[in-house]
Amino acid sequence: MHTEVFHKNELLDRESLDKLQAIRLKNTVFQASRSKFYRDQLYHAGIKVADMQTVDDVRRLPFTTKEILRTQYPYGMLALPVEKMNRMHASSGTTGSPTAIFYTKNDVETWGDLVARCMYCVGIRPKDVFQNMSGYGLFTGGLGIHYGAEKLGCCTIPAGAGNSKRQIKLLKDFHVSAIHIIPSYALHLATVFDKLGIDPKSLNLRIAIVGAEPHTEAVRQRIEEIYGIKAYNSYGLSEMNGPGVAFECPEQNGMHIWEDAYLAEILDPKTQEPLPDGEIGELVITTLTREGMPLLRYRTKDLTRFLPGECPCGRVHRRLDRILGRVDDMIILKGVNIYPMQIERVLMEIPEVGQNYLIVLEREGYLDQMRVKVEVKDDYFVEDMRVLKGLQQKIARLLKDEILITPRVDLVEHNTLPTSEGKAKRVEDHRED
Ligand code: AMP
Ligand code: ZN
Repeated sequence: MHTEVFHKNELLDRESLDKLQAIRLKNTVFQASRSKFYRDQLYHAGIKVADMQTVDDVRRLPFTTKEILRTQYPYGMLALPVEKMNRMHASSGTTGSPTAIFYTKNDVETWGDLVARCMYCVGIRPKDVFQNMSGYGLFTGGLGIHYGAEKLGCCTIPAGAGNSKRQIKLLKDFHVSAIHIIPSYALHLATVFDKLGIDPKSLNLRIAIVGAEPHTEAVRQRIEEIYGIKAYNSYGLSEMNGPGVAFECPEQNGMHIWEDAYLAEILDPKTQEPLPDGEIGELVITTLTREGMPLLRYRTKDLTRFLPGECPCGRVHRRLDRILGRVDDMIILKGVNIYPMQIERVLMEIPEVGQNYLIVLEREGYLDQMRVKVEVKDDYFVEDMRVLKGLQQKIARLLKDEILITPRVDLVEHNTLPTSEGKAKRVEDHRED
């Protein structure tokens, strides 16, 4: 099969990838041991660099968690002196204090290469005008994607987040053909297009990279339909550089995690034992090329699975399924475990439902309740109470089929629920208020 690639490592066969991973794992453990933190950890675990012979030896290594990164804040995890560092980013830290990530000059380069590889893989080329609608600053979606796009050779517009009218003006004036956008913001922007009476399909757009937050296949389809483009899922996290960790290929069936740069495991979150392909567990990643701040077995808390089988695109790098959510995102209500994405999947398949929703958890007396606030498209938001009541009941019934409890459903007019320029906040928990 002939696949055009940005980097030759994309087309390595399984055996060569395994070999490369084993060599890089050993180098990474050596590099990590230059930090005081890992030197102590490895010493206490009785692990020597020479013990790292095969990819499976990764299982002997201790885990690294976000809590550890916090206790080592600011400089505790560095494998090289800070003079060797070239860049710092921090995770968005929706929970607790942020964690700082450092990059040497080489790290910035290899990261840019990975992002460029992802973009090239979905058909973005130097001739494209690329608009990055993600926040610049500590968040990696700004500079991370920006450097990749520049490396690829695109004319790159650092639009940043928010200011929807200006985003639309830039898209139009510069005949932008490819964008990076957070999926919830893409849906919100669609409502602004609507208000301005501009059809997003009239733009020159052909490709969107969407990521940074969990979203369902139904949301991708909405984005593709509204804008008349192809949308590709992009996964990354600051601790692993940022974007460029795993990316969909043109098949749009799972995200290839770049195994020459990352060693991924899917583990049972309770027992930490490896799960077979196809089973959902916690993604744990070891960096394989980072020199400034290598991380061993970082527990991402993201839930996904390896998709079994080979991808027709010709890349053997294993594919991750769409992220179901984070371990901490799980809602436990009346003893039932629910993920916000289950709710999104149901809602976004209902044609009357608009582009935004919010899950509110509340307590009434001793009883926990879920209220789902749902925006309704203008055409359907009619005066006739019977019609609205019918829709409300339909949504409650479809949700119950999925999550096994019946939530209260509030129908609201479109564009009335809070929106965010960054990652969407899907759940408000008022149970302890
Ligand atoms: P941050 O380090 O602040 O950029 O946040 C990284 C986190 O965002 C990841 O651990 C995931 O929980 C989430 N995330 C990033 N990309 C995606 C994606 N494509 N799908 C689902 N969740 C994502
Ligand atoms: Zn593929």
